[in-house]
Amino acid sequence: MTSWDYVIVGAGSAGCVLAARLSEDPSVRVLLLEAGDRDTAKEVAVPAAFSKLFQTRHDWNYRTEPDPATDSRPMYWPRGKMLGGSSSINAMIYIRGARSDFDGWRDGGCEGWGYDDVLPYFTRSEDNTRGADAFHGVGGPLTVADQRSPSALTLDYLAAAEQAGLPRNGDFNGAEQEGVGLYQVTQKGGRRASTAAAFLRPALKRPNLEVRTLAHATRVLVRGGRAVGVEAVIGGRAEELLADREVLLAGGAINTPQLLLLSGIGPADELRALGVDVAVDAPKVGRNLQDHLSVGTAFNANGSVSYFEADKRIGNVASWLLRRRGPFSSPIAEAGGFVRTEEGLAAPDLQLLFGPAMFVEHGQIDPPGHGFSLGTYLLQPRSTGRITLRSLDPLAPARIEPGYLSDPYDLAVLVRGLRLSLQIAEQSPLARHAAGRYLPEAAQVMDDDRLAEAYVRARSETMYHPTSTAAMGPADDDVCDPALRVRGVDGLRVVDCSAFPAVTRGNTNAPVIMLAEKAADLLRGTVPPQRSAVRSAEVARP
Ligand SMILES: Cc1cc2nc3c(=O)[nH]c(=O)nc-3n(C[C@H](O)[C@H](O)[C@H](O)COP(=O)(O)OP(=O)(O)OC[C@H]3O[C@@H](n4cnc5c(N)ncnc54)[C@H](O)[C@@H]3O)c2cc1C
Repeated sequence: MTSWDYVIVGAGSAGCVLAARLSEDPSVRVLLLEAGDRDTAKEVAVPAAFSKLFQTRHDWNYRTEPDPATDSRPMYWPRGKMLGGSSSINAMIYIRGARSDFDGWRDGGCEGWGYDDVLPYFTRSEDNTRGADAFHGVGGPLTVADQRSPSALTLDYLAAAEQAGLPRNGDFNGAEQEGVGLYQVTQKGGRRASTAAAFLRPALKRPNLEVRTLAHATRVLVRGGRAVGVEAVIGGRAEELLADREVLLAGGAINTPQLLLLSGIGPADELRALGVDVAVDAPKVGRNLQDHLSVGTAFNANGSVSYFEADKRIGNVASWLLRRRGPFSSPIAEAGGFVRTEEGLAAPDLQLLFGPAMFVEHGQIDPPGHGFSLGTYLLQPRSTGRITLRSLDPLAPARIEPGYLSDPYDLAVLVRGLRLSLQIAEQSPLARHAAGRYLPEAAQVMDDDRLAEAYVRARSETMYHPTSTAAMGPADDDVCDPALRVRGVDGLRVVDCSAFPAVTRGNTNAPVIMLAEKAADLLRGTVPPQRSAVRSAEVARP
Protein backbone atom coordinates (compact mmCIF):
# COMPACT_ATOMS: atom_id res chain seq x y z
CA MET A 1 0.00 0.00 0.00
CA THR A 2 1.35 3.48 -0.76
CA SER A 3 -1.61 5.51 0.41
CA TRP A 4 -3.52 5.58 3.67
CA ASP A 5 -6.22 7.80 5.15
CA TYR A 6 -3.87 9.16 7.79
CA VAL A 7 -0.09 9.24 7.85
CA ILE A 8 1.24 9.91 11.36
CA VAL A 9 4.85 11.03 11.76
CA GLY A 10 6.35 9.87 15.07
CA ALA A 11 5.29 6.98 17.33
CA GLY A 12 5.89 8.84 20.58
CA SER A 13 3.58 9.72 23.44
CA ALA A 14 1.07 11.35 21.11
CA GLY A 15 1.61 9.30 17.95
CA CYS A 16 0.88 5.93 19.58
CA VAL A 17 -2.35 7.23 21.14
CA LEU A 18 -3.48 8.73 17.86
CA ALA A 19 -2.69 5.61 15.83
CA ALA A 20 -4.53 3.40 18.32
CA ARG A 21 -7.61 5.63 18.50
CA LEU A 22 -7.92 6.31 14.76
CA SER A 23 -7.52 2.62 13.85
CA GLU A 24 -10.43 1.67 16.14
CA ASP A 25 -12.54 2.33 13.04
CA PRO A 26 -11.75 -0.65 10.76
CA SER A 27 -12.61 1.37 7.66
CA VAL A 28 -9.84 3.91 8.35
CA ARG A 29 -6.32 3.06 7.12
CA VAL A 30 -3.53 4.41 9.29
CA LEU A 31 0.23 4.51 8.73
CA LEU A 32 2.48 5.28 11.70
CA LEU A 33 6.08 6.20 10.89
CA GLU A 34 8.83 6.07 13.51
CA ALA A 35 12.42 7.17 12.94
CA GLY A 36 13.66 4.99 15.80
CA ASP A 37 13.52 1.26 16.30
CA ARG A 38 11.23 -1.01 18.28
CA ASP A 39 11.18 -0.65 22.07
CA THR A 40 12.47 -4.10 22.97
CA ALA A 41 15.58 -3.03 24.96
CA LYS A 42 15.23 -4.41 28.51
CA GLU A 43 15.97 -0.99 30.00
CA VAL A 44 12.66 0.25 28.60
CA ALA A 45 10.52 -2.02 30.76
CA VAL A 46 12.61 -1.72 33.95
CA PRO A 47 11.53 1.60 35.47
CA ALA A 48 14.73 2.55 37.29
CA ALA A 49 16.88 1.91 34.21
CA PHE A 50 15.64 4.84 32.12
CA SER A 51 18.87 6.82 32.30
CA LYS A 52 20.74 3.79 30.91
CA LEU A 53 18.96 4.55 27.62
CA PHE A 54 20.47 8.03 27.49
CA GLN A 55 23.02 8.60 24.74
CA THR A 56 22.22 5.26 23.11
CA ARG A 57 20.61 4.66 19.70
CA HIS A 58 17.23 5.03 21.46
CA ASP A 59 17.93 8.68 22.23
CA TRP A 60 18.07 11.64 19.83
CA ASN A 61 20.85 12.85 22.11
CA TYR A 62 20.46 16.57 21.44
CA ARG A 63 22.75 19.38 22.56
CA THR A 64 21.53 22.94 22.93
CA GLU A 65 23.39 26.01 21.77
CA PRO A 66 25.60 27.58 24.46
CA ASP A 67 24.11 30.62 26.13
CA PRO A 68 25.92 33.07 28.48
CA ALA A 69 22.91 33.06 30.88
CA THR A 70 23.70 29.43 31.69
CA ASP A 71 27.48 29.81 31.58
CA SER A 72 27.66 28.99 27.87
CA ARG A 73 27.15 25.29 28.57
CA PRO A 74 25.74 23.25 25.69
CA MET A 75 23.09 21.27 27.55
CA TYR A 76 22.20 17.66 26.95
CA TRP A 77 18.57 17.07 25.94
CA PRO A 78 17.53 13.40 25.77
CA ARG A 79 14.46 12.55 23.63
CA GLY A 80 13.18 9.05 23.05
CA LYS A 81 13.80 7.58 19.58
CA MET A 82 11.85 4.31 19.42
CA LEU A 83 8.25 3.14 19.66
CA GLY A 84 6.76 5.10 22.55
CA GLY A 85 9.13 8.02 21.92
CA SER A 86 9.93 9.92 25.09
CA SER A 87 7.32 7.89 27.01
CA SER A 88 9.74 4.95 26.60
CA ILE A 89 12.62 6.85 28.19
CA ASN A 90 10.89 9.10 30.70
CA ALA A 91 10.64 8.95 34.50
CA MET A 92 6.96 7.88 34.40
CA ILE A 93 5.68 10.57 36.80
CA TYR A 94 1.98 11.07 36.13
CA ILE A 95 1.04 14.75 36.42
CA ARG A 96 -1.65 16.48 34.40
CA GLY A 97 -1.06 20.13 35.23
CA ALA A 98 -3.09 22.71 37.11
CA ARG A 99 -6.67 23.59 36.32
CA SER A 100 -5.48 27.10 35.51
CA ASP A 101 -3.11 25.81 32.80
CA PHE A 102 -5.96 24.54 30.65
CA ASP A 103 -8.28 27.39 31.59
CA GLY A 104 -5.42 29.65 30.48
CA TRP A 105 -5.32 27.87 27.10
CA ARG A 106 -9.08 28.39 26.75
CA ASP A 107 -9.00 32.00 27.88
CA GLY A 108 -6.17 32.65 25.44
CA GLY A 109 -8.54 31.74 22.61
CA CYS A 110 -8.30 27.94 22.42
CA GLU A 111 -11.95 27.15 22.82
CA GLY A 112 -12.60 23.58 23.97
CA TRP A 113 -9.32 23.23 25.88
CA GLY A 114 -10.41 24.47 29.34
CA TYR A 115 -9.97 22.14 32.32
CA ASP A 116 -13.57 20.93 32.31
CA ASP A 117 -13.29 20.25 28.57
CA VAL A 118 -10.11 18.20 28.81
CA LEU A 119 -10.74 16.31 32.06
CA PRO A 120 -12.86 13.65 30.28
CA TYR A 121 -9.93 12.98 27.94
CA PHE A 122 -7.57 12.47 30.85
CA THR A 123 -9.98 10.05 32.47
CA ARG A 124 -10.77 8.25 29.19
CA SER A 125 -7.09 7.25 28.88
CA GLU A 126 -6.72 6.24 32.44
CA ASP A 127 -6.82 3.01 34.38
CA ASN A 128 -6.01 4.24 37.85
CA THR A 129 -5.23 1.42 40.27
CA ARG A 130 -6.84 3.42 43.08
CA GLY A 131 -10.18 3.24 41.29
CA ALA A 132 -12.39 5.91 39.77
CA ASP A 133 -13.46 9.11 41.42
CA ALA A 134 -14.38 12.64 40.46
CA PHE A 135 -11.00 13.17 38.80
CA HIS A 136 -9.91 9.68 37.77
CA GLY A 137 -10.90 6.92 35.42
CA VAL A 138 -10.64 3.16 35.25
CA GLY A 139 -10.69 0.87 32.24
CA GLY A 140 -8.62 3.09 29.93
CA PRO A 141 -5.46 1.82 28.23
CA LEU A 142 -2.97 3.71 30.44
CA THR A 143 -2.28 2.25 33.86
CA VAL A 144 -1.61 4.91 36.49
CA ALA A 145 -0.36 3.31 39.66
CA ASP A 146 0.96 4.01 43.12
CA GLN A 147 4.62 3.15 43.46
CA ARG A 148 5.15 -0.42 44.54
CA SER A 149 8.18 0.05 46.78
CA PRO A 150 8.94 3.64 47.69
CA SER A 151 12.14 3.92 49.70
CA ALA A 152 12.12 4.57 53.47
CA LEU A 153 14.33 7.56 52.71
CA THR A 154 11.59 9.00 50.52
CA LEU A 155 9.09 8.71 53.37
CA ASP A 156 11.58 10.60 55.55
CA TYR A 157 11.80 13.29 52.88
CA LEU A 158 8.03 13.70 53.08
CA ALA A 159 8.21 14.01 56.86
CA ALA A 160 10.97 16.62 56.45
CA ALA A 161 8.93 18.58 53.91
CA GLU A 162 5.97 18.62 56.28
CA GLN A 163 8.24 19.74 59.09
CA ALA A 164 9.35 22.58 56.79
CA GLY A 165 5.69 23.66 56.64
CA LEU A 166 4.48 22.14 53.37
CA PRO A 167 1.07 20.43 53.39
CA ARG A 168 0.65 16.78 52.33
CA ASN A 169 -1.21 16.02 49.12
CA GLY A 170 -2.37 12.48 48.31
CA ASP A 171 -3.35 13.30 44.73
CA PHE A 172 -1.65 15.99 42.64
CA ASN A 173 -4.16 15.32 39.87
CA GLY A 174 -7.20 15.83 42.06
CA ALA A 175 -8.90 18.87 43.48
CA GLU A 176 -5.69 20.63 44.51
CA GLN A 177 -2.19 20.49 43.06
CA GLU A 178 -0.36 22.10 45.95
CA GLY A 179 1.48 20.12 48.63
CA VAL A 180 3.98 17.25 48.82
CA GLY A 181 3.52 13.52 48.40
CA LEU A 182 4.45 10.41 46.47
CA TYR A 183 4.05 10.56 42.70
CA GLN A 184 1.75 8.17 40.90
CA VAL A 185 3.45 6.57 37.92
CA THR A 186 2.62 5.24 34.47
CA GLN A 187 3.50 1.64 35.25
CA LYS A 188 1.61 -1.61 34.93
CA GLY A 189 2.54 -4.34 37.38
CA GLY A 190 5.87 -2.65 38.09
CA ARG A 191 6.84 -2.30 34.40
CA ARG A 192 6.88 0.91 32.37
CA ALA A 193 3.57 1.75 30.71
CA SER A 194 4.75 3.76 27.70
CA THR A 195 2.17 4.75 25.11
CA ALA A 196 3.64 2.02 22.89
CA ALA A 197 2.91 -0.58 25.56
CA ALA A 198 -0.43 0.85 26.65
CA PHE A 199 -2.02 2.04 23.40
CA LEU A 200 -0.12 0.80 20.37
CA ARG A 201 0.65 -2.81 21.23
CA PRO A 202 -3.00 -3.87 21.70
CA ALA A 203 -3.82 -2.23 18.33
CA LEU A 204 -1.03 -3.87 16.33
CA LYS A 205 -3.11 -6.83 15.21
CA ARG A 206 -5.54 -4.56 13.36
CA PRO A 207 -5.15 -4.98 9.59
CA ASN A 208 -5.91 -1.29 9.02
CA LEU A 209 -2.90 -0.11 11.07
CA GLU A 210 0.60 -0.25 9.61
CA VAL A 211 3.65 0.71 11.66
CA ARG A 212 7.03 1.30 10.06
CA THR A 213 10.08 1.72 12.28
CA LEU A 214 13.46 3.07 11.16
CA ALA A 215 11.42 5.35 8.88
CA HIS A 216 12.56 8.97 9.11
CA ALA A 217 10.13 11.50 7.62
CA THR A 218 12.12 14.19 5.81
CA ARG A 219 9.43 16.44 4.31
CA VAL A 220 5.70 17.01 4.19
CA LEU A 221 4.55 16.86 0.57
CA VAL A 222 2.48 20.00 -0.06
CA ARG A 223 0.68 20.11 -3.40
CA GLY A 224 -1.83 22.78 -4.39
CA GLY A 225 -1.98 24.08 -0.81
CA ARG A 226 -2.71 20.64 0.61
CA ALA A 227 -0.55 18.16 2.53
CA VAL A 228 -0.83 15.01 0.47
CA GLY A 229 1.70 12.84 2.27
CA VAL A 230 5.27 12.73 3.48
CA GLU A 231 8.61 11.81 2.09
CA ALA A 232 10.60 9.47 4.32
CA VAL A 233 13.93 7.70 4.30
CA ILE A 234 13.30 4.01 4.90
CA GLY A 235 16.16 1.55 4.68
CA GLY A 236 18.32 4.20 3.01
CA ARG A 237 15.74 4.90 0.27
CA ALA A 238 13.45 7.91 -0.10
CA GLU A 239 9.78 6.93 -0.34
CA GLU A 240 6.59 8.92 -0.81
CA LEU A 241 3.79 7.90 1.54
CA LEU A 242 0.46 9.42 0.66
CA ALA A 243 -2.43 10.44 2.91
CA ASP A 244 -5.91 10.59 1.40
CA ARG A 245 -7.23 12.51 4.40
CA GLU A 246 -4.54 14.09 6.57
CA VAL A 247 -0.91 14.13 7.59
CA LEU A 248 -0.48 14.27 11.38
CA LEU A 249 2.80 15.49 12.82
CA ALA A 250 3.73 13.92 16.16
CA GLY A 251 7.54 14.15 16.11
CA GLY A 252 7.80 16.13 19.36
CA ALA A 253 8.71 19.72 20.19
CA ILE A 254 12.05 19.71 18.36
CA ASN A 255 11.43 17.50 15.35
CA THR A 256 7.94 18.71 14.43
CA PRO A 257 9.00 22.34 13.88
CA GLN A 258 12.12 21.05 12.10
CA LEU A 259 9.94 19.06 9.70
CA LEU A 260 7.64 22.04 9.12
CA LEU A 261 10.65 24.24 8.32
CA LEU A 262 12.13 21.63 5.97
CA SER A 263 8.75 21.56 4.21
CA GLY A 264 8.76 25.31 3.63
CA ILE A 265 6.31 26.12 6.43
CA GLY A 266 7.90 28.72 8.67
CA PRO A 267 9.21 32.29 8.84
CA ALA A 268 9.56 33.27 5.17
CA ASP A 269 12.74 35.36 5.57
CA GLU A 270 14.47 32.66 7.53
CA LEU A 271 13.51 29.99 5.01
CA ARG A 272 14.56 32.06 1.98
CA ALA A 273 17.91 32.83 3.58
CA LEU A 274 18.48 29.08 3.78
CA GLY A 275 17.31 28.48 0.22
CA VAL A 276 14.06 26.70 1.16
CA ASP A 277 11.05 27.31 -1.10
CA VAL A 278 8.37 28.95 1.02
CA ALA A 279 5.06 27.08 1.03
CA VAL A 280 3.52 29.08 3.90
CA ASP A 281 4.87 32.12 5.71
CA ALA A 282 4.30 30.96 9.30
CA PRO A 283 6.39 33.29 11.47
CA LYS A 284 5.87 31.40 14.74
CA VAL A 285 7.12 27.96 13.66
CA GLY A 286 9.95 27.04 16.04
CA ARG A 287 9.34 30.10 18.22
CA ASN A 288 7.88 30.16 21.75
CA LEU A 289 9.97 27.17 22.90
CA GLN A 290 9.26 26.65 26.58
CA ASP A 291 10.97 24.20 28.89
CA HIS A 292 11.15 23.50 32.60
CA LEU A 293 14.58 24.41 33.94
CA SER A 294 15.61 22.56 37.09
CA VAL A 295 18.24 22.92 39.75
CA GLY A 296 19.37 20.07 41.95
CA THR A 297 21.11 19.48 45.25
CA ALA A 298 22.77 16.27 46.45
CA PHE A 299 23.80 14.93 49.84
CA ASN A 300 26.07 12.13 50.98
CA ALA A 301 24.27 9.67 53.25
CA ASN A 302 25.69 8.19 56.42
CA GLY A 303 24.40 4.65 55.96
CA SER A 304 23.35 2.18 53.28
CA VAL A 305 19.99 3.91 52.97
CA SER A 306 19.90 4.77 49.28
CA TYR A 307 19.87 3.10 45.87
CA PHE A 308 23.66 3.36 45.46
CA GLU A 309 24.72 0.21 43.59
CA ALA A 310 21.19 -1.19 44.04
CA ASP A 311 21.58 -2.94 40.68
CA LYS A 312 24.49 -4.97 42.05
CA ARG A 313 22.48 -6.55 44.86
CA ILE A 314 21.05 -9.90 43.94
CA GLY A 315 18.09 -9.43 46.30
CA ASN A 316 16.98 -6.37 44.35
CA VAL A 317 17.27 -8.21 41.05
CA ALA A 318 15.25 -11.10 42.44
CA SER A 319 12.66 -8.75 43.91
CA TRP A 320 12.04 -7.22 40.51
CA LEU A 321 12.17 -10.43 38.53
CA LEU A 322 9.87 -12.32 40.88
CA ARG A 323 7.55 -9.61 42.17
CA ARG A 324 8.26 -6.48 40.10
CA ARG A 325 9.09 -4.66 43.32
CA GLY A 326 12.09 -3.06 44.97
CA PRO A 327 14.47 -0.36 43.66
CA PHE A 328 14.21 -1.58 40.05
CA SER A 329 10.54 -0.52 40.04
CA SER A 330 11.42 2.99 41.21
CA PRO A 331 10.96 6.06 39.02
CA ILE A 332 13.94 7.48 41.03
CA ALA A 333 12.10 10.78 41.52
CA GLU A 334 9.70 9.11 43.95
CA ALA A 335 8.28 12.12 45.72
CA GLY A 336 7.97 15.85 45.47
CA GLY A 337 5.21 18.33 45.11
CA PHE A 338 4.03 21.76 44.16
CA VAL A 339 4.54 25.06 45.97
CA ARG A 340 3.72 28.72 45.56
CA THR A 341 6.72 30.83 46.44
CA GLU A 342 4.75 34.09 46.57
CA GLU A 343 1.49 35.12 48.15
CA GLY A 344 -1.29 35.73 45.68
CA LEU A 345 -0.11 33.38 42.93
CA ALA A 346 -3.07 31.64 41.32
CA ALA A 347 -1.22 28.31 41.13
CA PRO A 348 2.12 26.77 42.10
CA ASP A 349 5.26 28.18 40.51
CA LEU A 350 7.70 25.43 41.54
CA GLN A 351 7.69 21.64 41.44
CA LEU A 352 9.82 19.68 43.91
CA LEU A 353 11.50 16.33 43.38
CA PHE A 354 13.18 13.88 45.71
CA GLY A 355 15.24 10.83 44.76
CA PRO A 356 16.75 8.31 47.21
CA ALA A 357 19.98 8.33 45.19
CA MET A 358 22.48 10.89 44.01
CA PHE A 359 21.20 11.83 40.57
CA VAL A 360 23.80 14.15 39.10
CA GLU A 361 24.27 15.13 35.44
CA HIS A 362 21.26 13.13 34.25
CA GLY A 363 22.51 10.05 36.10
CA GLN A 364 25.43 9.85 33.68
CA ILE A 365 28.20 10.02 36.28
CA ASP A 366 28.71 7.42 38.96
CA PRO A 367 27.82 8.82 42.38
CA PRO A 368 30.58 8.72 45.02
CA GLY A 369 28.47 6.60 47.40
CA HIS A 370 25.14 6.49 49.20
CA GLY A 371 23.21 9.72 49.06
CA PHE A 372 20.02 11.49 48.04
CA SER A 373 18.93 14.34 45.79
CA LEU A 374 16.43 17.15 46.09
CA GLY A 375 15.53 19.11 42.99
CA THR A 376 13.17 21.84 41.96
CA TYR A 377 11.97 23.32 38.72
CA LEU A 378 10.31 26.39 37.44
CA LEU A 379 6.74 25.66 36.35
CA GLN A 380 5.89 28.76 34.34
CA PRO A 381 9.06 30.10 32.72
CA ARG A 382 8.95 33.61 31.34
CA SER A 383 12.03 32.93 29.21
CA THR A 384 11.43 31.37 25.81
CA GLY A 385 13.71 29.97 23.14
CA ARG A 386 13.50 28.71 19.59
CA ILE A 387 14.14 25.88 17.17
CA THR A 388 15.67 26.74 13.81
CA LEU A 389 17.31 24.79 11.00
CA ARG A 390 21.02 24.24 11.32
CA SER A 391 21.18 22.65 7.93
CA LEU A 392 18.95 21.57 5.05
CA ASP A 393 19.97 17.98 5.74
CA PRO A 394 16.76 16.50 7.22
CA LEU A 395 18.77 13.90 9.13
CA ALA A 396 20.94 16.55 10.86
CA PRO A 397 19.75 17.87 14.24
CA ALA A 398 17.92 21.18 14.41
CA ARG A 399 19.44 24.11 16.30
CA ILE A 400 18.03 24.40 19.82
CA GLU A 401 18.29 27.75 21.59
CA PRO A 402 16.43 27.26 24.89
CA GLY A 403 16.75 30.90 25.95
CA TYR A 404 16.86 29.80 29.61
CA LEU A 405 17.03 32.62 32.19
CA SER A 406 16.70 35.30 29.54
CA ASP A 407 14.06 36.76 31.86
CA PRO A 408 15.61 37.53 35.28
CA TYR A 409 12.36 36.58 37.02
CA ASP A 410 13.09 32.92 36.26
CA LEU A 411 16.45 33.10 38.00
CA ALA A 412 14.86 34.61 41.12
CA VAL A 413 12.24 31.84 41.35
CA LEU A 414 14.83 29.10 40.88
CA VAL A 415 16.97 30.58 43.66
CA ARG A 416 13.91 30.39 45.92
CA GLY A 417 13.46 26.77 44.91
CA LEU A 418 17.09 25.94 45.57
CA ARG A 419 16.82 27.40 49.05
CA LEU A 420 13.58 25.58 49.74
CA SER A 421 15.25 22.26 48.83
CA LEU A 422 18.09 23.02 51.22
CA GLN A 423 15.66 24.04 53.93
CA ILE A 424 13.80 20.71 53.61
CA ALA A 425 17.11 18.83 53.75
CA GLU A 426 17.91 20.57 57.03
CA GLN A 427 14.82 19.13 58.76
CA SER A 428 15.57 16.35 61.21
CA PRO A 429 13.81 13.40 59.47
CA LEU A 430 16.13 13.86 56.48
CA ALA A 431 19.09 15.64 58.11
CA ARG A 432 19.76 12.58 60.27
CA HIS A 433 20.70 10.65 57.12
CA ALA A 434 23.03 13.33 55.72
CA ALA A 435 26.78 13.08 55.93
CA GLY A 436 27.59 16.37 54.31
CA ARG A 437 26.44 18.22 51.24
CA TYR A 438 27.79 17.16 47.86
CA LEU A 439 26.09 19.91 45.82
CA PRO A 440 26.04 22.91 45.94
CA GLU A 441 29.66 23.00 47.05
CA ALA A 442 29.51 26.61 48.30
CA ALA A 443 28.37 26.75 51.92
CA GLN A 444 26.72 30.19 51.75
CA VAL A 445 24.11 29.77 49.00
CA MET A 446 21.38 30.26 51.61
CA ASP A 447 22.44 33.83 52.36
CA ASP A 448 24.49 35.01 49.41
CA ASP A 449 22.37 35.82 46.35
CA ARG A 450 25.35 36.08 44.07
CA LEU A 451 26.53 32.59 44.99
CA ALA A 452 23.05 31.11 44.67
CA GLU A 453 22.54 32.68 41.24
CA ALA A 454 25.96 31.51 40.10
CA TYR A 455 25.06 27.98 41.17
CA VAL A 456 21.82 28.06 39.18
CA ARG A 457 23.61 29.37 36.09
CA ALA A 458 26.33 26.75 36.42
CA ARG A 459 24.26 23.70 37.33
CA SER A 460 20.71 24.06 36.05
CA GLU A 461 19.52 21.44 33.58
CA THR A 462 16.45 20.62 31.51
CA MET A 463 13.62 18.77 33.25
CA TYR A 464 12.92 17.29 29.77
CA HIS A 465 9.67 19.11 29.00
CA PRO A 466 10.12 21.25 25.86
CA THR A 467 6.80 22.36 24.35
CA SER A 468 4.95 24.99 22.32
CA THR A 469 7.12 25.30 19.18
CA ALA A 470 4.14 24.98 16.80
CA ALA A 471 1.52 26.25 19.17
CA MET A 472 -2.20 26.47 18.65
CA GLY A 473 -3.91 29.81 19.17
CA PRO A 474 -6.65 32.04 17.82
CA ALA A 475 -4.50 34.55 15.91
CA ASP A 476 -3.85 34.38 12.17
CA ASP A 477 -0.14 34.01 12.79
CA ASP A 478 -0.44 31.21 15.36
CA VAL A 479 0.95 28.04 13.78
CA CYS A 480 -2.15 25.93 14.47
CA ASP A 481 -5.76 26.75 15.07
CA PRO A 482 -7.50 25.35 18.17
CA ALA A 483 -8.39 22.21 16.16
CA LEU A 484 -4.62 21.67 15.73
CA ARG A 485 -4.79 22.40 11.97
CA VAL A 486 -1.68 24.06 10.56
CA ARG A 487 -2.77 27.41 9.17
CA GLY A 488 -2.17 27.94 5.47
CA VAL A 489 -2.10 24.25 4.47
CA ASP A 490 -5.06 21.90 4.22
CA GLY A 491 -4.85 18.38 5.57
CA LEU A 492 -2.06 18.95 8.08
CA ARG A 493 -2.21 18.96 11.89
CA VAL A 494 0.25 19.02 14.74
CA VAL A 495 -0.55 16.47 17.43
CA ASP A 496 2.20 16.53 20.04
CA CYS A 497 3.53 18.83 22.73
CA SER A 498 4.64 21.39 20.10
CA ALA A 499 0.97 22.37 19.94
CA PHE A 500 0.67 23.37 23.63
CA PRO A 501 -0.06 27.10 23.78
CA ALA A 502 2.08 27.14 26.95
CA VAL A 503 3.88 24.54 29.01
CA THR A 504 1.75 23.07 31.79
CA ARG A 505 2.54 23.06 35.50
CA GLY A 506 4.10 19.66 35.81
CA ASN A 507 5.45 16.79 33.76
CA THR A 508 4.22 16.77 30.21
CA ASN A 509 3.47 13.16 29.26
CA ALA A 510 -0.11 13.06 30.61
CA PRO A 511 -1.18 16.34 28.94
CA VAL A 512 0.26 15.24 25.60
CA ILE A 513 -1.69 11.97 25.83
CA MET A 514 -4.80 14.02 26.59
CA LEU A 515 -4.09 16.23 23.55
CA ALA A 516 -3.80 13.17 21.29
CA GLU A 517 -7.04 11.71 22.69
CA LYS A 518 -8.82 14.97 21.88
CA ALA A 519 -7.17 15.18 18.45
CA ALA A 520 -8.55 11.72 17.63
CA ASP A 521 -12.06 12.95 18.40
CA LEU A 522 -11.54 16.11 16.35
CA LEU A 523 -10.46 13.96 13.40
CA ARG A 524 -13.30 11.47 13.84
CA GLY A 525 -15.80 14.26 14.24
CA THR A 526 -17.15 12.64 17.38
CA VAL A 527 -18.55 14.64 20.22
CA PRO A 528 -16.36 14.85 23.31
CA PRO A 529 -16.94 12.20 25.97
CA GLN A 530 -19.99 13.23 27.96
CA ARG A 531 -18.88 11.99 31.34
CA SER A 532 -17.82 15.10 33.18
CA ALA A 533 -16.06 13.34 35.98
CA VAL A 534 -16.24 16.29 38.32
CA ARG A 535 -19.98 16.53 38.14
CA SER A 536 -20.96 12.89 37.81
CA ALA A 537 -18.62 11.01 40.10
CA GLU A 538 -20.39 8.07 41.54
CA VAL A 539 -17.58 5.85 42.71
CA ALA A 540 -15.74 6.89 45.82
CA ARG A 541 -11.96 6.68 45.94
CA PRO A 542 -10.80 4.20 48.55
C1 LIG B 1 14.41 11.74 30.12
C2 LIG B 1 12.99 12.22 30.15
C3 LIG B 1 12.26 12.13 31.34
C4 LIG B 1 10.94 12.58 31.38
N1 LIG B 1 10.20 12.34 32.50
C5 LIG B 1 8.86 12.57 32.47
C6 LIG B 1 8.03 12.13 33.53
O1 LIG B 1 8.48 11.53 34.51
N2 LIG B 1 6.69 12.38 33.43
C7 LIG B 1 6.17 13.04 32.36
O2 LIG B 1 4.95 13.28 32.36
N3 LIG B 1 6.93 13.48 31.35
C8 LIG B 1 8.26 13.20 31.35
N4 LIG B 1 9.02 13.55 30.28
C9 LIG B 1 8.41 14.31 29.19
C10 LIG B 1 7.46 13.50 28.31
O3 LIG B 1 7.91 12.17 28.19
C11 LIG B 1 7.35 14.19 26.95
O4 LIG B 1 6.85 15.50 27.12
C12 LIG B 1 6.42 13.46 25.98
O5 LIG B 1 6.81 12.12 25.85
C13 LIG B 1 6.44 14.16 24.63
O6 LIG B 1 5.55 13.52 23.78
P1 LIG B 1 5.51 13.85 22.22
O7 LIG B 1 4.53 12.93 21.64
O8 LIG B 1 5.34 15.31 22.05
O9 LIG B 1 6.99 13.51 21.70
P2 LIG B 1 7.84 12.18 21.82
O10 LIG B 1 7.26 11.24 22.81
O11 LIG B 1 9.25 12.58 22.00
O12 LIG B 1 7.63 11.47 20.41
C14 LIG B 1 8.16 11.89 19.19
C15 LIG B 1 8.39 10.65 18.35
O13 LIG B 1 8.56 11.01 17.00
C16 LIG B 1 9.68 10.34 16.45
N5 LIG B 1 10.18 11.19 15.38
C17 LIG B 1 10.71 12.41 15.51
N6 LIG B 1 11.02 12.92 14.30
C18 LIG B 1 10.64 11.99 13.39
C19 LIG B 1 10.70 11.95 11.97
N7 LIG B 1 11.18 12.96 11.25
N8 LIG B 1 10.23 10.82 11.34
C20 LIG B 1 9.72 9.79 12.06
N9 LIG B 1 9.66 9.79 13.41
C21 LIG B 1 10.10 10.89 14.07
C22 LIG B 1 10.61 10.21 17.64
O14 LIG B 1 11.60 9.23 17.45
C23 LIG B 1 9.65 9.89 18.76
O15 LIG B 1 9.39 8.51 18.84
C24 LIG B 1 10.35 13.15 30.22
C25 LIG B 1 11.07 13.23 29.02
C26 LIG B 1 12.37 12.76 28.98
C27 LIG B 1 13.13 12.85 27.68
